[in-house]
Amino acid sequence: MQSPSSVPRAEALVDLAAVRHNVAVLREAAPAAQLMAVVKADGYGHGAVEVARAALAGGASWLGVCTLEEAAHLRAAGITAPLLSWLHLPDDDFTDAVAAGVDLSVPSRAHLAAVTAAASRAGRPARVHLKADTGMSRGGAQPAAWPGLLDDAEKAAADGRVEVVAVWSHLANADTPDHPSLDAQAARLTAAWEAARERGFAPIRHLANAAATLTRPDLHFDLVRPGIAVYGLDPLGRPVGETALRPAMTLRARVALVKRVPAGEGVSYGHEWTAPRDTTLALVPLGYADGVPRRLSGRMRVLLGGALRPVVGRVSMDQVVVDCEDGTGVREGDTAVFFGPGANGEPTAQDWADELGTIHYEIVTGVHLRRVTRTHIGAAE
Ligand SMILES: *Cc1c(COP(=O)(O)O)cnc(C)c1O
Repeated sequence: MQSPSSVPRAEALVDLAAVRHNVAVLREAAPAAQLMAVVKADGYGHGAVEVARAALAGGASWLGVCTLEEAAHLRAAGITAPLLSWLHLPDDDFTDAVAAGVDLSVPSRAHLAAVTAAASRAGRPARVHLKADTGMSRGGAQPAAWPGLLDDAEKAAADGRVEVVAVWSHLANADTPDHPSLDAQAARLTAAWEAARERGFAPIRHLANAAATLTRPDLHFDLVRPGIAVYGLDPLGRPVGETALRPAMTLRARVALVKRVPAGEGVSYGHEWTAPRDTTLALVPLGYADGVPRRLSGRMRVLLGGALRPVVGRVSMDQVVVDCEDGTGVREGDTAVFFGPGANGEPTAQDWADELGTIHYEIVTGVHLRRVTRTHIGAAE
């Protein structure tokens, strides 16, 4: 009888040494700018607190998140680094964020009013980054709304209730570095920044995500905001090995059952695959409820027992079946790697994204961490 193992059934292994390495690569790409590591969406599924600490150790001096909850989570973990939060409702309560020294993006007069009221309650000025819509038509103030926003900012600053830290925006086409919209967005940002300077503010200016950090040094301005590359995934989708980035996440699970089945037996729901010969099948308990897209049925392989082997039949909610042919080198309890850095021949998140017609961002943020155990390795001392 086997003794019980403490190795998890299913695991997202996150290498924090890779995060530090990637941040150092980004620092080298943007030596003159400050670096904000974007850790929204729980660090793109990698763990916001752990990644934030690793990124700061690797040379980041700012952190970026989407929501007030994400910002509060980092502050509650004792992370005191400059931190920007950028997507809010105008009726959010900003009091705790201002009190915790969280910088807030402001895209409208209504948001500014809410932040200013929170500053009064918190008893300290709110640090704001005025967001210009420079051509993405998502967040930010349109050029026509900019003077009004500056009027209100001037009044709030005169009262000592806001400090205008930055004027900023976000790129729509940074993954196409020579797209003409990048220059157009940069010009509009600079116009918005100059208008703020004419009102007596001295804000910094920031625009670049990971793609622009790596490919458009002319758009780095004072600070860059890489996200995906912090996690080792190339924003331009170049194959692993063509860049210095190291993917940080490995998704793996352990074989629950190995058995021989005779030729002609159907496998999994719908019998979409039938054994063409007597074969050995391995059952691996990771399915679409864990973040393995069902659309990868019949279109994916795992690294198991030293070889890439096909997942056969449909991906189920909880499990997949792997065809191991004669079964050499495959035992119950072995680890099947679903995706990882690619260094040992395993598939990558990029491979999954290519197969699915999506981007690797969606793959790593799609691991379901209520079922998959996330483990961090490589933390700095
Ligand atoms: C997500 C995000 C980033 C980071 O984008 P990547 O493509 O992952 O580098 C930067 N800025 C803003 C405003 C974002 O929402």
